[in-house]
Amino acid sequence: MKNISVIGAGTMGNGIAHTFAQFDYKVQLIDLSENSLKKGIGTITKNLDRMIAKGRITEEDKLRTLNNITTCTSLQKGVEYAGLVVEAATENLELKLNIFRDLDKFCPDNTILATNTSSISITEIAAVTSRPEMVIGMHFMNPVPIMKLVEIIKGYNTSQETYEIVKVISEKLNKTPVKVNDYPGFVANRILMPMINEAIETLYNGVAGVQEIDTVMKLGMAHPMGPLQLADFIGLDICFSILNVMYDGFKNPKYAPCPLLVNMVTAGKLGVKSGEGFYDYSEKRRAENVSKQFI
Ligand code: NAD
Repeated sequence: MKNISVIGAGTMGNGIAHTFAQFDYKVQLIDLSENSLKKGIGTITKNLDRMIAKGRITEEDKLRTLNNITTCTSLQKGVEYAGLVVEAATENLELKLNIFRDLDKFCPDNTILATNTSSISITEIAAVTSRPEMVIGMHFMNPVPIMKLVEIIKGYNTSQETYEIVKVISEKLNKTPVKVNDYPGFVANRILMPMINEAIETLYNGVAGVQEIDTVMKLGMAHPMGPLQLADFIGLDICFSILNVMYDGFKNPKYAPCPLLVNMVTAGKLGVKSGEGFYDYSEKRRAENVSKQFI
């Protein structure tokens, strides 16, 4: 299992490609346009340079990692030799279902199909393929080259063999896999998102300001970053969509997105990626400062 295809070269996809390539897998990185792929490779190069500056890897490691990555805009061509596909395209149910229908057609019969979805049901994605026992969730954390956790989500029909293979691969990437069953939000987001939503509700109710809420959680709970800053980093649209998946899935009002979050997403205030969320990232330097804390 040396050939890995990664779908999507955005925030997560480029980190996943970087990590596999660093551990000597041959990676096909696939996105819709040459421009997205160029941006993805640019980010990987920048992150490798940061790792060199911190003494974590050598110039030789960087070149070897980049040489292990090939880019491609054709899904069909990009997966023809894949042993494992990790899908990290935009968080949208219809889009992912279409991708998995195509993967089922284009991939060899023994290819394992993994998704990095934050919240969408693995069982539902698996159901559009003819190989549901070989479909699994492989939920990396952001930034992928740094964060140790991989939530491995077994769908209703995922086989034990598929789980074991993905677990071993995660360990080869020097990650710690945690086995999770397929329910809305899995474990990470089921716990994290209500905390973020409650922090937004606390702000909405006027209990305290943005800085104050984040300071309480940083200094009081030893969190490396406050929940509002973390929401900005994840993307408020992503938080909104994960909360909605849990709200719909559990039919429980405790997961309903706070009206302030709804308003901010509607107004296009999505956090770091849009230049403004709970904090202002309009100056390029400030946005860079935020991302540097993670890499
Ligand atoms: P992103 O918007 O940064 O990147 C998505 C990429 O997918 C884009 O480059 C887009 O062009 C590409 N894409 C869309 N449709 C495609 C298709 N049909 N074929 C190929 N490429 C396609 O999104 P992201 O933040 O990297 O999120 C990707 C996935 O990872 C989502 O499922 C998200 O829920 C999950 N995730 C995100 C985070 C996070 O912190 N952002 C953390 C864990 C998991």
